Amino acid sequence: MIVVMKADAAEADVEAACAHVRALGLVPHVSRGLQRTVIGVIGAAGERPQIHSLEGFRSVERLTEVSRPYKLVAREAHPEGSLVAVGGVEVGGREIALMAGPCAVESRDQIERAAEAVAAAGGRILRGGLFKPRTSPYSFAGLGERGLEFLRRAADRHGLAVVTEVLTPEQVPLVEAFADLLQVGARNMQNYALLEAVGRASRPVLLKRGLAARLEELLLAAERIALAGNPNVILCERGIRTYETATRNTLDVTAVPALKELSHLPVVVDPSHATGRRSLVGAAACAAVAAGADGLLIEVHPDPARALSDGAQSLDFSELAALVPRLVAHAVVEGRTLAPDRSRLDAATWLR
Ligand code: PEP
Ligand code: MN
Repeated sequence: MIVVMKADAAEADVEAACAHVRALGLVPHVSRGLQRTVIGVIGAAGERPQIHSLEGFRSVERLTEVSRPYKLVAREAHPEGSLVAVGGVEVGGREIALMAGPCAVESRDQIERAAEAVAAAGGRILRGGLFKPRTSPYSFAGLGERGLEFLRRAADRHGLAVVTEVLTPEQVPLVEAFADLLQVGARNMQNYALLEAVGRASRPVLLKRGLAARLEELLLAAERIALAGNPNVILCERGIRTYETATRNTLDVTAVPALKELSHLPVVVDPSHATGRRSLVGAAACAAVAAGADGLLIEVHPDPARALSDGAQSLDFSELAALVPRLVAHAVVEGRTLAPDRSRLDAATWLR
């Protein structure tokens, strides 16, 4: 931590700030420049939150952090990058994990057809919301508990793992009994009780970036999950809210390499919520692969025009099947694989 004194701070002010630092068991190092004096604070400033009371000193201009405020999820803690096992699928390795399925599970038939199409396209993980966080209280909010079995059975029949959203701490035991990956949605990225509850869970967590969250805030949310005991966190860039209204959100594609510099956790991209428009999902997904994403979370529906939620951004099955060879070609350029059982065929088809 660096304490920057105001330009007009007197020697007595500098000494008072140093005395405060010492009283906390930390060591001050004073450095006097031509214009102003700064005090370097040596020691575990992160474990002495009282250091921030220096901001209240009239002679102090600001405090600047030197080390990062998160530790467990920092890249330095695991320089080679971590692998997160989701059912039998490893996320964070050479293979880019394709996760796809409807926004919401609507019926046994719908999720069964989706599972078949996702598996046929080379997908590994079936998505489908049961507890839906909807902006309007009048919108379809999911089938709830009733749909968990539809989702699990459909996934099992096609050899897929399952990801679904959990909205409250109370839902965690129920959802972890059925799902392989617990999704914390964008609206809940700063729901600390939920983060701690999934931190105590036995399943890995897919943590979505909040609508207005900075990367540091996303990483601090991941740190909270890890600190509660669950190191298996996958970060998800799903677009952020900007002044642009032509798309539902703005895909922050550089968040992918930036997060990978800062953290060892796998990073996936959701091009569906990032764009909100079916016609843009493919381009956003390819950009994500080129940027180094470890996975993609894509909404697909047997009949998007009749979807109960997010139909405008959902691909139909033929659109998903057509997208995969493009993704495979981009993955090859990045030295990665995607849908490996189908890769040779798909890449060859696309590159021809
Ligand atoms: C979802 O994945 O269905 C969802 C609600 O996403 P987000 O939390 O990113 O809006
Ligand atoms: Mn959705």
